[in-house]
Amino acid sequence: MNNEYDVIIFGAGTAGLSAAVYALRAGLSVLILENKVQGGQILNTPQIENYPAILAISGFAFIETLFKQATELGAQVAYEQPLKVDLSKRMKTVTTDGGAYQAKTLILATGASHRKLGCPGEEELAGRGVSYCATCDGAFYRGKDVCIVGGGNTALEDALFLSNNCSSVTLIHRRDEFRAHKVTVDAVKARENITILPFYTVEEIKGDSKVEQAVLQNTKDGSQRVVNTAAVFIAVGLAPENELFRGLVQMDEAGYIVAGEDCRTSAKGVFVAGDTRTKSVRQLVTAAADGAVAAVEAAGDINQGIW
Ligand code: NAP
Repeated sequence: MNNEYDVIIFGAGTAGLSAAVYALRAGLSVLILENKVQGGQILNTPQIENYPAILAISGFAFIETLFKQATELGAQVAYEQPLKVDLSKRMKTVTTDGGAYQAKTLILATGASHRKLGCPGEEELAGRGVSYCATCDGAFYRGKDVCIVGGGNTALEDALFLSNNCSSVTLIHRRDEFRAHKVTVDAVKARENITILPFYTVEEIKGDSKVEQAVLQNTKDGSQRVVNTAAVFIAVGLAPENELFRGLVQMDEAGYIVAGEDCRTSAKGVFVAGDTRTKSVRQLVTAAADGAVAAVEAAGDINQGIW
């Protein structure tokens, strides 16, 4: 493996792999640093049905093909944990637990991770009924009563997914309006074995060795109720995964890296793509688009010698 590249991409999710494809086709040398496995968030999606011109594909198959595309074009991939980024010199240096690499440009595509509720029992019962991935864990609760928390696309799509196999699904949301697409909200409302509990938060998750109950609190009158459940699926949004870059590039108050549609951060030669960027629509198609834009902008800077 080389030590010098035109571009180092942080993250082998949809944004990072799309950036790699565009950078390689622009003739750049590319190193992708990935601290887990390639794929990112979309691996949790059983069925993608809103990517233009693809009627339906699983998240796994989508990433498998995209990864093949990037690596067959020549992307180098290092499964290493980045520890330090030094932007003080023109050639940027990234130190990982496996070595040190230099690049003219960086593309930050580290994505986001599941937000936690922060209530008692959540951490203690994680993996024993508390789950952040209905697609991964839903099958364990076939024929059981389960809960899901949240009011966005993930929570409502997961509620539908779970209701196919679970006996009942209770959807717990802190308001009575949903962020999810209307078509999904309508489908949830029409599903017989889904009960919507609006105006409730989860105060505690109880159980000895596995989840048995969720203690809920009404956001209007403070009253409590207890729901017997075999699992609590938590789908309350995402938090950006980019602490490594704090202080190096401008971030907003929620921790997202500030950049416009050109994917340029506040640091010269450093671009950001996908869910970790400030943006209003976090979708597969916008992650892929960001990757393309970031790579094309990086290639333009390199070609002009202004990195
Ligand atoms: P999201 O849209 O940010 O929704 C998070 C939900 O969790 C909100 O309803 C929020 O309530 C609630 N919430 C946040 N913190 C909470 C807390 N501490 N306690 C209780 N509830 C809490 O997150 P998401 O559903 O994971 O989606 C993330 C992004 O991916 C979105 O842009 C979404 O559109 C996109 N996505 C798209 C698709 C698709 O197009 N098919 C599928 C999945 C995800 P409030 O509403 O009250 O703030």
